[in-house]
Amino acid sequence: MKIGFTAIGLLLSSALFAQDYQRCGSVEAIELRNAEQAGYSKAVQNTFNSAKQHASQKDVNEPSPIYMVPVVVHIVYNTPEENISDALVHAQIARLNKDYRRLNDDTTDTRAEFLPVAADAGIQFYLAGTDPNGSPTGGITRTQVTRTDFAPDFLGNGLDDVKQSSLGGVASWDTDEYLNIWVCDLIGTGGIFQIFGFAYPPASAPNWPQNNSAPSPELEGVVIHFEVFGDGNPLATGPLSVADRGRTAVHEVGHYLGLRHIWGDAFFDGCTEDDGLDDTPNAASNAAQVCNFNNNTCVDTPVDYPDMIENYMDYAQDQCMNLFTANQVGIMRSMLETARVDLADGSVSPSGIEDLELANSMVSVFPNPTEGVVHLKYSSDLHLTQSRLFDLNGRLIQLFEEEYPFRMSAKPGIYVLKLQFLEGMVTKRVSIL
Ligand SMILES: [Zn+2]
Repeated sequence: MKIGFTAIGLLLSSALFAQDYQRCGSVEAIELRNAEQAGYSKAVQNTFNSAKQHASQKDVNEPSPIYMVPVVVHIVYNTPEENISDALVHAQIARLNKDYRRLNDDTTDTRAEFLPVAADAGIQFYLAGTDPNGSPTGGITRTQVTRTDFAPDFLGNGLDDVKQSSLGGVASWDTDEYLNIWVCDLIGTGGIFQIFGFAYPPASAPNWPQNNSAPSPELEGVVIHFEVFGDGNPLATGPLSVADRGRTAVHEVGHYLGLRHIWGDAFFDGCTEDDGLDDTPNAASNAAQVCNFNNNTCVDTPVDYPDMIENYMDYAQDQCMNLFTANQVGIMRSMLETARVDLADGSVSPSGIEDLELANSMVSVFPNPTEGVVHLKYSSDLHLTQSRLFDLNGRLIQLFEEEYPFRMSAKPGIYVLKLQFLEGMVTKRVSIL
């Protein structure tokens, strides 16, 4: 299938979106970069091709290992309303984790013909527990700035301003080690170029010709408009309600990990352009923020599938997005093994507050007191990822990963057992006899 970024000028693409919000400005950002720096989109393309080849050699049905990606969220605000809550940030991390592990509760909405290709990416996200200086952090920075917004101009210029303190924004943390997400007013007063978010795909795989490398490394990351960040953002109303479940970030992180829009971003004769992946049906255009399950804009062979509006890399509403495909998973995992290899190397410790605190009653620990062996009881709706035993001074005593039941090797005394579920954290006191 044909691959290729469209060479249509930015002016034209902006004009096409003048009547409406656009979900994502990533392709326009790449085109802008390419205009400034010859060879950039070619480098993106080459990285994609090498990742595709890498992925084809792997079995993606059983994603292993689970890649853990540290995240820092930079909240760059002018008004108090833009200074969104920790709870929304935590809900966004939980949304990423559910969708990237295919543990979202709407997998049941995936149409039958797409179930064979819908896949668990085996990628999880956590708020960073240490900053680049090694100091403790909750993985969220908050900076009040004088700029009222970071909306790009009618040519798309200014997209990266929020990432640069010299331009009124906030500088990234080491982008090799952290996934930086900036949350700001990206729409402003409603200029011509209104987007919910954007991200650059990797363009800096090892052993690449230097001249083909990406925008400068400190500009790597994801930018999301503050009203559509988080799962259930109360500000995602009216025209923004199409993006009310936190899937703008799911989509943009997909770009950041190398995925293209499934329709291929063509402006003319859309069926000739594709995302380069065989298990996403070809589509002539995007889903236009509508959940229309009758869409079938291109003929596929040998089987003619409808457009996959369930895919996170389309532009349907959040409420009908629910899957990545196996080939998409292959690309993203390959990027974490090549172009973004330092990201999931485990060098950044978790904040331990990566999710919402769940009700204590949702989990029981028994027996308690215990001689040392502990069992858990909880609903099958919950998904345990990590369990840690701390002493009362907050020192980590023991980490439990695969083993179950837990065999605690600590001396007799009172301890704190922190149970990290994808859905949130539960903290229990445990008495060891
Ligand atoms: Zn996009």
